[in-house]
Amino acid sequence: AHEAALAARNKDDLRSPICCILGHVDTGKTKLLDKIRQTNVQEGEAGGITQQIGATYFPVDAIKTKTAVLNKDGSQEYKIPGLLVIDTPGHESFTNLRTRGSSLCNIAVLVVDIMHGLEPQTLESLRLLRDRKTPFIVALNKIDRMYGWQAFPDNDFRDSLAKQSRAVQREFEDRTQKTILAFAEQGLNAVLYYDNKSFARNVSLVPTSAITGEGIPDMIMLLVNLTQQRMSDRLMYLSELECTVLEVKVIEGLGTTIDVVLSNGILHEGDRIVPLRELRIKSAYVHHSEVKAALGVKILAPDLEKAIAGSRLMVVGPDDDEDELMDEIMSDLTTLMNAIDKS
Ligand code: GDP
Repeated sequence: AHEAALAARNKDDLRSPICCILGHVDTGKTKLLDKIRQTNVQEGEAGGITQQIGATYFPVDAIKTKTAVLNKDGSQEYKIPGLLVIDTPGHESFTNLRTRGSSLCNIAVLVVDIMHGLEPQTLESLRLLRDRKTPFIVALNKIDRMYGWQAFPDNDFRDSLAKQSRAVQREFEDRTQKTILAFAEQGLNAVLYYDNKSFARNVSLVPTSAITGEGIPDMIMLLVNLTQQRMSDRLMYLSELECTVLEVKVIEGLGTTIDVVLSNGILHEGDRIVPLRELRIKSAYVHHSEVKAALGVKILAPDLEKAIAGSRLMVVGPDDDEDELMDEIMSDLTTLMNAIDKS
């Protein structure tokens, strides 16, 4: 079984990375999410973006459309099948979303308002990211609020910056320098992403506007490059399932359902899961007989009332001892309840 598991790991068959958004209140986390979800009507549909259970899935074709302004010569490689973005911005979702004790999020976007710099909850987010060792980029948002900014919707950031007046360019440089200094005070080397020569050593700043869409192609491209260049080991499929329960809900006509993020592995209809049985899979209310990570899925099964948000989901294999798995789940739950008690 171990050999099979190793054989299943393949750098050419990566799963979709999971991305979370964090930052101080009002920096534009929700607005950024709305903007990246929006399909670009003028350039034809960025097909296949689906808002799932607590998450939005961007298949690679949608990512290609959204980053097209940065790939005019077509030389960019896209190795990930898509990107799953968790829809609930903020700390709570980030702290509670865990799999095997580590964060569910493979990569995070820390949003900073370029007009305000680092704020109290930015520092709190930084602590969380460091504790979890989660790689992250910084969206330096609200660039359109700089006095005199001329908007070029959905543009590549550097092209937009080049078209601004000298005064706007100077304001941008000043504000960016201040932010870099503030990060330095936190012991972090921050640099504009296009000047970043080492992803390992420096944090990338990507200027964005959630209103005009400028810099958003840059932000998505950066997520693509960072995940596929630096994280391919963590993005290989596991033969085991990694699933996290987001929410337990009662829906009229369906009964009790659980919303889960499938962060790794493949979930099949009919899989027996503990502490649940007989699985039916619904993803965005489309019926699937099998789903591959990473996705948000809604699961219908008997006895779901007993599922607890934040807990792990396990599939019972032919050789597995269901009691042993139950023990593991119970110890997970104890850890989880302790974590909830503390927060
Ligand atoms: P959150 O609390 O971080 O989720 O922030 P929101 O997304 O709710 O945004 C807070 C406010 O800032 C709202 O009024 C947004 O319309 C506004 N906002 C967000 N992003 C931008 C931006 O890039 N430019 C401008 N001008 N306003 C923005």
